[in-house]
Amino acid sequence: MNQKNIRNFSIIAHIDHGKSTLADRLLEATGALSDREKSDQYLDKMELERERGITIKSQAVRLNYKAKDGLDYILNLIDTPGHVDFTYEVSRSLSACEGALLVVDAAQGVEAQTLANVYMAIDQDLEVFPVLNKIDLPSAEPERVREEVEEIIGIDTSDAVLASAKEGIGISDILEAVVNRVPAPGGDVDAPLQAMIFDSWYDSYQGVIILTRVVEGSVKKGDKIKLMATGGTYEVQKVGAFSPHPTELPKLAAGEVGFVIAGIKVVEDAKVGDTITHQHAPAEKPLPGFQEVKPMVFSGLYPIDSGEYDALRDALEKLRLNDAAFSFEPENSLALGFGFRCGFLGLLHMEIIQERLEREFNVELITTAPTVVYKVTTTKGELLQVESANMLPEVQFIEKIEEPFVLASIHVPNEFVGAVLNLCIEKRGVQRELKYLTANRVMVVYELPLNEIVLDFFDRLKSITRGYASLDYEHLDFRPSKLVRLNVLINGDVVDALSLIVHMDKAQFRGRELVSKMKEFIPRQQYEVAIQAAIGNKVIARSTVKALRKDVTAKCYGGDITRKRKLLEKQKAGKKRMKQVGSVELPQDAFLAILKVK
Ligand code: GDP
Ligand code: MG
Repeated sequence: MNQKNIRNFSIIAHIDHGKSTLADRLLEATGALSDREKSDQYLDKMELERERGITIKSQAVRLNYKAKDGLDYILNLIDTPGHVDFTYEVSRSLSACEGALLVVDAAQGVEAQTLANVYMAIDQDLEVFPVLNKIDLPSAEPERVREEVEEIIGIDTSDAVLASAKEGIGISDILEAVVNRVPAPGGDVDAPLQAMIFDSWYDSYQGVIILTRVVEGSVKKGDKIKLMATGGTYEVQKVGAFSPHPTELPKLAAGEVGFVIAGIKVVEDAKVGDTITHQHAPAEKPLPGFQEVKPMVFSGLYPIDSGEYDALRDALEKLRLNDAAFSFEPENSLALGFGFRCGFLGLLHMEIIQERLEREFNVELITTAPTVVYKVTTTKGELLQVESANMLPEVQFIEKIEEPFVLASIHVPNEFVGAVLNLCIEKRGVQRELKYLTANRVMVVYELPLNEIVLDFFDRLKSITRGYASLDYEHLDFRPSKLVRLNVLINGDVVDALSLIVHMDKAQFRGRELVSKMKEFIPRQQYEVAIQAAIGNKVIARSTVKALRKDVTAKCYGGDITRKRKLLEKQKAGKKRMKQVGSVELPQDAFLAILKVK
């Protein structure tokens, strides 16, 4: 196909503004979906994504479209992940495009991720044009939102498309706008090959499938290729496109988007952002902007039943095949036994992996509270990466601890600004900016320690703004900080899996709150359970769970047998998420009690 008739575009939106619904409408309108497939959102593949209504991995589909000018076009729709944890993947997907539809919910207006994504698109020189979605809603205010988009983002909205993805309104206008406003791709078909990987995943039959945008040159079956960041060489077995079913093509040339299959075994070898070139006659240099993604949030995952350790490891390995950003290594906890310390891009990424382990792989887990990575310099001058409280050396051996900071943008209606500022101050934030976007919408920008965000920032923000705030953040740097290890003792023994790294000024308060929360979560047992919080040898808080007075079934002894059985079943269900630690049974909630502390 002639480059002039190709359009590569993406849809960017804040979560829930209708990106996936619109994408499906575009597939439908161009005849890409069968009737059966129309029933569910095609682009959100995994069950979990569908349930949570989020798109995790990006996808690319090729749509054939006959435009009003009578010509046939190929429209490559590149979907982007919608969450802050996956920013890098968003930026790579966008760099495969020449244009982007900016979808804004006409009842909600501009939100934090709308802005973050649109700035990324503008940075990459994409043609951005607005679509005001959900105009079917009685609460839609397209005119107000139109002004908001102009004022806040500074793009022309005079020919914004008014649409309802749900009702199918405005879809043909959007397709025409893609053809007329998105520039055709460039690139020299005869130049040495440079193709950017913007997604990759593992398929058990074909190995790794790479989604790529060919920028220069072309690639076909039988070619010997080289991945420039990793240096790996492979032979191409297949190239093609998803339309939306995988369809083999003779080649992919400059300007085109599609898949490459080349016998690659693990996604780690085909990293998002890497450049494909030919092994012989390679390009002089890779495409710009490759970045190694590093896990920023860690947590311990332990099987409830220690007999499931091998099953857990197998499940983690399977997940890892498909997710180069996820890492794990064996970890041994005195309290929890054998498990794994896992690294994630962020909190959502962590939740998704935990949920998939339980749901798809049927492994029941105890998870420990999330922690960030700290850089510790010891008095001997060693530099350590500390990913769990137990790796933190004793105080006397620490020269310096540095913690990661993020730059957080919070969008919030006027009336909640005070509450948000208080929260940011409480979370050790440093204000960068406070700006009225419109008379009623404010953007608050803070430098915040990631440590405070992983604890309970999202939930607190949501509750103090009744769900009206939106948040986006990016990593800034590491900063020296006064941090200490807070230990929790159960009946006098330190439970390593409960240790935390907290800011010194907050240790006292956190310790007290933690102990009282744990008291709520730990059920009464045969013996009294003493819970203590300590820094070093100094106990800073204490509380006690009283012993059970009687056996729960004692009172129905000899009585109604069904009632007795029911009680036992209840006990069993309650036990499911319990882990025996010493002589005490701790429920999952106790391990995450810190997340419930203000
Ligand atoms: P995404 O997170 O941007 O991909 O958003 P989705 O496409 O998953 O849509 C989020 C929610 O908004 C879903 O419940 C959709 O059914 C709903 N939605 C999407 N488009 C429209 C629309 O045009 N009108 C109305 N009323 N609801 C819509
Ligand atoms: Mg979606």
